Amino acid sequence: MSEPTLVVVGAGHVAASAARALRRRGFAGPVVLLGDEPVAPYDRPHLSKERLASGSEAGLWLLDPDWCAANDVTLRTGTRVDRIDAGSGAVVLTDGGTVPADLVVLATGGRPRTLPGLDGDRVHTVRTLADSDRLRERLTPGRRIGVLGGGFLGTEIAAAAVTRGAEAVVFDLDPVLLARALGPGIGAAITGLHRRRGVDLRLGSPVTSVRPGPEGVEVDTDAGTETVDDLVVCIGIVPDTDVAVRSGLAVGNGVDVDAHGRTSIPTVFAAGDVAAHDHPRYGRIRVEHVDVAQQQAQAIASTVAGRAKSFADPHWFWTDQYDVNVQGLGLGGIRPDDVAITRGDLDELDGTVFWLRDGVVVGAASIERGEDISVARELLDLEIPVRPEQLADESVELEDLLEEEEVGV
Ligand SMILES: Cc1cc2nc3c(=O)[nH]c(=O)nc-3n(C[C@H](O)[C@H](O)[C@H](O)COP(=O)(O)OP(=O)(O)OC[C@H]3O[C@@H](n4cnc5c(N)ncnc54)[C@H](O)[C@@H]3O)c2cc1C
Repeated sequence: MSEPTLVVVGAGHVAASAARALRRRGFAGPVVLLGDEPVAPYDRPHLSKERLASGSEAGLWLLDPDWCAANDVTLRTGTRVDRIDAGSGAVVLTDGGTVPADLVVLATGGRPRTLPGLDGDRVHTVRTLADSDRLRERLTPGRRIGVLGGGFLGTEIAAAAVTRGAEAVVFDLDPVLLARALGPGIGAAITGLHRRRGVDLRLGSPVTSVRPGPEGVEVDTDAGTETVDDLVVCIGIVPDTDVAVRSGLAVGNGVDVDAHGRTSIPTVFAAGDVAAHDHPRYGRIRVEHVDVAQQQAQAIASTVAGRAKSFADPHWFWTDQYDVNVQGLGLGGIRPDDVAITRGDLDELDGTVFWLRDGVVVGAASIERGEDISVARELLDLEIPVRPEQLADESVELEDLLEEEEVGV
C-alpha cells in the first residue's frame, strides 16, 4: 500500500513546522505545501521588527530548499487553493487544477482587518513580506507615520518607525498601551517606554474618521484632526476561513478543531491563526501567536504519524519593543478576579507579573525576564501552590519554589 500524501494549504509558519515535524516523526508519505504568496515560507514576526527596521534577511526564511528536496517536501508558491474536496481526496486550486491529498492541514492564517474607505497609496497593513518592505521605504526621517491601533503590531511598527528616524503617532481608544493584553502594570511601563523614545501617543479617544487629504491622511479624533504622511492600520486580523467555508468545514471564530487539531472532516486538520481549538483549560479559543502555530503543527504531525497527541499548551508569546523583550504565558485564561503579583520593577523595564488563582499560577507576563516565564510555565503546568509574598520577594529564587515541590513529592 502506498504512503498517504499530506497537503498543507497555506505556506506559512504552520506549513514549515509541519513539514519538519512530519519527517522527524517518521511520516513517510509525500508532503506538499501550497502557498499563494510568491515566496517561500518566512518568519512573519520579523516583518514588524528586524525586517521593518533594517531590511535584514537574517533568520527570515523558514525552510531550506535543499532540506525540502532531500525530504520529499514539495513547495508550490503562487498557488491559490479554492477548496478541499475530501470526498475525492484532492485539493482544488483556483486555476482549476487539483492536487491529490489523503490528508490536509489547513493553515491559511489571517488577513488584516480594515475599515471601509481606508485605502490608497498612503494606507498600509502589515501581514506579508511585500507589505513590510513597502512600508519600510516610507519610514524615513521627517516623515510622519500614523499607526491606527496600539496593540502588539502597532507598537512594534511605531518602534521601527522612530528607530529609522521617522516620526510616529499612535492612535488608540485605550488610555494605556497593551494594558488589556498584558495588564495595567506592564501596559504603563510600555507606554512610558514609547513616550521616552519620542512616539506621539494619542490615547484614550476614538478615531472617528480617516480620509485622504491634500497633505496626507487626515485622522479625526475627539481631540482634533491630525495629518500624517502614511497611516498603518493595525486593528487586528480576521481568520482566513474562505477555503474552509467552501470545503464545508465547521467554522465559527475560525475553523473549529478538536484538541488534536482535527476539523469536522476527519482527514482535514487545521492549525495556527485560522484554527479555533478546543483547549482543556480555556475552552474553544483562537490564538494568533507563532509558537502556538508551531506547536499545533507538531501535535498534528504526531497524530498523523501514528502517535495521537493533543495540544494543551498554555499559549506563550513574545513581542520586542525596541530592544526590550516582553513575554506572556497563559494570558488568554486570566479572569478579572485573578490576583496579580508583581516581582521586580516594571517601570525600570525589569519585572514580571504573575496571576494567581486559588494559590496557583495561571498566567504571567514579563519585561526582560524570560527566565521568570520559564519558571511560571512549570508552576502552571504542575499546579504547584505558591504564596504571593514568595513570588514578590526578589530574595526568593523562583526555581526554589519548584524544588520545594519536588522535595515534597
Ligand atoms: C507583522 C507580524 C508580526 C508578528 N509578530 C509576532 C510576535 O512577535 N510574536 C508572536 O507570537 N506572533 C507574532 N505574529 C503572529 C504570527 O506571525 C502568526 O501567529 C503566525 O504567522 C501564524 O502562522 P500560520 O501558519 O497560521 O499563518 P501564516 O503564517 O499567516 O501563513 C498563512 C499562509 O497561508 C496563505 N494562504 C491564505 N489563503 C490561501 C489560499 N487560499 N491558498 C494558498 N495559500 C493561502 C497566506 O497567504 C499565508 O502565506 C506576528 C504577525 C505579523 C503579521
